[in-house]
Amino acid sequence: MKSSQFLISTLRDSPSDAVISSHQLMMRSGMIRKLGNGLYSYMPIGLRSLRKVEKIIREELDNAGLLEMKPTVIQPGELWKESGRWNTMGAEMLKPQNRGGQDMVVSPTAEEAFTALIREGLSSYKQLPIIAYQINTKYRDEIRPRYGVMRGREFIMMDAYSFDADQKSLDESYDKCAKAYRRIFKRLGLNTISVKADTGAMGGSGSEEFMVESEVGDDTLILCPKCGYAANVEKATCKPDVAVDKDGNPQKPTDKPYEKIPTPDVKTIDDLAAFLKTNTQSFIKTLIYKVTNSSIDLSKVECCKNLKRVQDGDNFYYPESFVAVCIRGDLDVNEAKLCAKLKASEVELAAEEDVVRITTAPVGFAGPVKMVNAPVICDESVSTMHDAVTGGLEKDVHFIHVEPGRDFTPFMTADVRVVVPGDKCPECGETFYSKKGNELGHIFKLGDKYTKSMHVTYLDQSGKPVTPIMGCYGIGVDRTLASIIEGHHDDSGIIWTMSTAPFQVAIVPIKYDGVMKEACDKLYDELTSKGIEVLLDDRNERPGVKFADADLIGYPVRVVIGDKNLPNVEVKLRSEKDASLIPLEEAGAKIVSIVNEELARLNG
Ligand code: ATP
Ligand code: MG
Repeated sequence: MKSSQFLISTLRDSPSDAVISSHQLMMRSGMIRKLGNGLYSYMPIGLRSLRKVEKIIREELDNAGLLEMKPTVIQPGELWKESGRWNTMGAEMLKPQNRGGQDMVVSPTAEEAFTALIREGLSSYKQLPIIAYQINTKYRDEIRPRYGVMRGREFIMMDAYSFDADQKSLDESYDKCAKAYRRIFKRLGLNTISVKADTGAMGGSGSEEFMVESEVGDDTLILCPKCGYAANVEKATCKPDVAVDKDGNPQKPTDKPYEKIPTPDVKTIDDLAAFLKTNTQSFIKTLIYKVTNSSIDLSKVECCKNLKRVQDGDNFYYPESFVAVCIRGDLDVNEAKLCAKLKASEVELAAEEDVVRITTAPVGFAGPVKMVNAPVICDESVSTMHDAVTGGLEKDVHFIHVEPGRDFTPFMTADVRVVVPGDKCPECGETFYSKKGNELGHIFKLGDKYTKSMHVTYLDQSGKPVTPIMGCYGIGVDRTLASIIEGHHDDSGIIWTMSTAPFQVAIVPIKYDGVMKEACDKLYDELTSKGIEVLLDDRNERPGVKFADADLIGYPVRVVIGDKNLPNVEVKLRSEKDASLIPLEEAGAKIVSIVNEELARLNG
């Protein structure tokens, strides 16, 4: 390809909303352009790299025996009503209507579509297992799209869905996808850490996220240096620790009844600790949360008896409810864990007016004792607390000598704390450290969530209808591409891996004219005939401009052809500082071997 025939336009400066390197470099190198908030379009040079990422994903999945399909991106809302997710998906799902007034969905994910497509025509156990995938457009109305294609609103995802007759077969499908993922990321030149996305209950094997370490990562990883435990902070658990008093001894039960004390002008837990001459671990912090679409059964909770409850096929949910969450004073509530425990689509701190209504006091005096307006959810950290201090449900009032279990009974006790570096590993007791990461892929055992609600069955060997179980597997294609740049760049630009470069080689003549033009054309023909992807910069630009562009776009190999050096040419790897002079006659063979050896290393 010649530059003059290819739409390349680089920018000197990056736009002000581009704050991370990959976003800046994708904009500056002309790979992408912005059409709207969270809406990035690929220009020819960017699309070449994107397609290479897709190709590697496709090759590995095809090799693993997965079947590619292409469902539509626009899907009938009916399917989502069948699965029960029409109401629970939240505001990220874009729901347009067609001209007939029918509800539609712009696919944010595709469990429903694949389940519906596989349901048709599935009759016998002999057809299973099936693992099907697509590499297709997704739309999520992200509240805060950012970092360019790392978190866009429209993006491309590879999503695969497995349908298996039994758990053993699902385990095999899952392992097959996990193995394919490892090969994909290796070929792309990315080091991924696989972290448990759920822990405990399923032995850690039910869900894994594939993360790349990144300073600008949206995720925090909690890691154990000893046993290799790795979890997203959203899900991480730690070894329970015993609540201690101000002298560092385990808290002791008290026989004293709880007692009201005036606490005027104390605002924070630290103020309160100073005021009462005790430590923050002696406080039960109580937070009122608004919960959206929870499907835990609250029918036995007095204050929830009249709560609006929606029946949705076999499922039910409460569109809006409130809970009082108690946790030891030195800890924080992990909203992702709380959301999961409440089987909700969203949790958020309640607005002031709701706090006032529920606690019958201004903000700051919530507590579990005598709490009648919301069910009390206790973090496990409260279980070892004694003789505690809590808010008194009255302005400027706290209770002391509170005994959990005696003075209040939680509706539910669950692990909802934020795990931080310094907490101890639940597996081996070693101290955790943490790193920032970005999620590139996810694998997940779904069970019968969709096949059951959408009535999928097959006939087993005895002719009995059975519900198959599913797994789902996703890789963000654009985010993966951006992560390659995030991990491979310098001050001058991108340093492409050989497997994803838009072109593997750039030939840059000092001037595309005379003997230099002849040499360029000869090398170009030789390389392309050997299957190497070459960009020949034939533009009538100053050499400095062409060099800067080559560095910015990041072709792995650059060949400079100048009349002063001929019959030698200058070959330089983007990843190395120094160039070497090679006779033109030998350059072709040398470059072919550089490219192929590097590809072989990545593909090995
Ligand atoms: P996140 O926590 O980053 O929002 P998610 O848990 O919503 O991710 P999944 O539903 O598991 O993501 O989607 C699978 C993959 O799709 C993710 O691992 C990620 O690589 C990609 N992805 C998800 N949301 C976006 C987005 N807004 N922009 C680009 N890629 C995305
Ligand atoms: Mg998301």
